[in-house]
Amino acid sequence: MSTFKCIGILTSGGDAPGMNAAIRAVTRSAIYNGMKVKGIYRGYKGLITGEIEDFKTQNVSNIIQRGGTILKTARCLEFKTQEGRKQAHETLQKEEIDALVTIGGDGTLTGARIFAQEFNFPVVGLPGTIDNDLFGTDVTIGYDTALNTIMECVDKIRDTASSHDRIFFIEVMGRDAGFLALNGALASGAEAAIIPEISKEKDQLSDMIEFGLRSSKNSSIVLVAESEVTGGAMGVAERVKKEYPNFDVRVTILGHLQRGGSPSAQDRIMATRMGVAAIDALLEDQRNVMIGIQNEQIVYVPFSKAIRNEKSINRDLLNILRISSI
Ligand code: ADP
Repeated sequence: MSTFKCIGILTSGGDAPGMNAAIRAVTRSAIYNGMKVKGIYRGYKGLITGEIEDFKTQNVSNIIQRGGTILKTARCLEFKTQEGRKQAHETLQKEEIDALVTIGGDGTLTGARIFAQEFNFPVVGLPGTIDNDLFGTDVTIGYDTALNTIMECVDKIRDTASSHDRIFFIEVMGRDAGFLALNGALASGAEAAIIPEISKEKDQLSDMIEFGLRSSKNSSIVLVAESEVTGGAMGVAERVKKEYPNFDVRVTILGHLQRGGSPSAQDRIMATRMGVAAIDALLEDQRNVMIGIQNEQIVYVPFSKAIRNEKSINRDLLNILRISSI
């Protein structure tokens, strides 16, 4: 059994709906298991500046339904330097925090891994990102809510698209991963998705047009994953204007809308399960692992695996999208 007395908790990098549910679960599970909890504000920045508050169970009351993160988040360049991390370690010693729970994406877990190794400090990570791009977990906290937001937005765009004779290219987030674009397209009944995972294999735009995009319809909706590889919605639309000038093209970039909103039931449940699992992991003396969910079961994924490996997209979904959009 572990002997941790006080754990620190922070959210870092891009915010995601459900982070608050995770903060709540980590806090309450730690207190339930007799530990003290300290909330660290603004991610790794708060570790360096010492912006830290004692958390009681009331500090996390009434937040499960709120988007964003009550602990705020930040991008902290100093933490990428050894000097910055040394300062962070000194803060932890001063605050008598003996284990850390970090909630964030790929960058946050990379920082956590480096810090944990450098100072032999116990860290457990929770996958908090709308992009769903972390290996070792079927889903990440925030992904389901973002997917639902995309679906609702595309439903609205469809109303106007079908009143005209147009192709809409809708750009969604994903940071070099196509999960939101592909599943967003399936959920909203879009005609196609352009995703980075297969950009190098085939020209998705010409493939889509050759397959007969718009042959049986007046309007079409195509979801494009933001990425240098896809060129984003603007890049794709520019190409269409040049190569297929008879098409009337419109672009919508959903942008930060996708990060906001009250978390879905699935994200709240997942974040709660993962938050409790983070404390279980520490009690079992696990360290330097990310909590994941695979086939409905909680798993501990070493940071090295979660960060380094690329999570593959389910290619069957591309075919399903194609069949269902004729
Ligand atoms: P996300 O966690 O959403 O992927 P970022 O990539 O912005 O977001 O990372 C969040 C923070 O994690 C960064 O601002 C930085 O403080 C820390 N971080 C990212 N990469 C590293 C790294 N290689 N070394 C140390 N810290 C890092």
